[in-house]
Amino acid sequence: MKIVDHPEPRLEGDTDVLVEMLDVGVCGTDREIARFEYGSPPPGSPYLVIGHESLARVLDVGRAVTRVRPGDLVVTMVRRPCGHPECRACSRDRQDFCFTGDFTERGIKGRHGFMTERVVDDQRFMHVVPGQLREVGVLVEPLTIAEKALIQVWDVQERLPWTAAGVAAGSGHGEKAVVLGAGPVGLLGALALLVRGFETWVYSLEPSDDPKARWVEAVGARFVSAASTTLAQMAEEIGSIDLIYEATGAAGVAFRALDVLGVNGVFVFTGVPGRKGPIELDAGALMRRLVLENQLVFGTVNAGADAFLAAIDDLARFHARWPQQLRALITRRYPPDTAPALLSGASSDIKAVVSFAEAG
Ligand code: BGC
Repeated sequence: MKIVDHPEPRLEGDTDVLVEMLDVGVCGTDREIARFEYGSPPPGSPYLVIGHESLARVLDVGRAVTRVRPGDLVVTMVRRPCGHPECRACSRDRQDFCFTGDFTERGIKGRHGFMTERVVDDQRFMHVVPGQLREVGVLVEPLTIAEKALIQVWDVQERLPWTAAGVAAGSGHGEKAVVLGAGPVGLLGALALLVRGFETWVYSLEPSDDPKARWVEAVGARFVSAASTTLAQMAEEIGSIDLIYEATGAAGVAFRALDVLGVNGVFVFTGVPGRKGPIELDAGALMRRLVLENQLVFGTVNAGADAFLAAIDDLARFHARWPQQLRALITRRYPPDTAPALLSGASSDIKAVVSFAEAG
């Protein structure tokens, strides 16, 4: 891994926006890319500029730009359309549902990312973040995972007349949700569930006196340590679980958790497991419950503009309700020259952020 001399990007098209990078978050995907287990550079490039979780400030805009102005804080979306006219998703700006797999992703697949001082992109991929979110705006992208998941949860739960948006005002009031995993995706997911009125539990490996456990309790969710409590014991305490939001990327625990999903429950997979050996599973029992209990299981990746807008709104809500806990998710900011070590070393951070500017 190298810090390379990357050419300065410039405004080319009329709808281009030039930004200076402020913060770039580091996640498991970045670490996999750094180990050469995932991702690819742009065609013809010997390197990939990493980084897809970003917060930047607009420096200059093309003549036809209307969505952003110099000085605005912006978050840039990750995925770009595959360009095949027959892809019904990409041709409707929903590359997060791309059919062909030929999409590109900034900092991940076939396109340089954001871990660099200046970036240019088209205005349609940028979303303005309110100035008061300067310190935490880099959390928008990891939060979009939960936002896209919850948009889909509401869509599918329209099937239950008593929970449908409009009847319950789109809120999860009275519903019980379990988050698997206490990494940034899980903890941000827990906040998204809490602001929607879900009673929320976080099930994770850490012992119950871990700082993450205290964080979970401080925001009003309950922490259950996998070190001392089995999934079945937790489920017995909770009662019928309406939603399980998986954010571990660990197939074993995820599929065991499917056993405790309640009647009419929804299970959302967000983690991408590493290539490990097969796990054993009672497929017959699983299928039986899925059918007899109207359960629904789905996976979700990336996010569209709707999820980015929802994430920006929710982040402002979290900021108003839990300012301290939200800031505490970013455990440390690192200077850019430490990024290689950060990407390859072990980390005790919740969310590590590479900062290109002084927070202000
Ligand atoms: C990113 C997504 C991306 C996915 C798969 C995640 O880490 O947040 O934007 O689609 O990796 O490459």
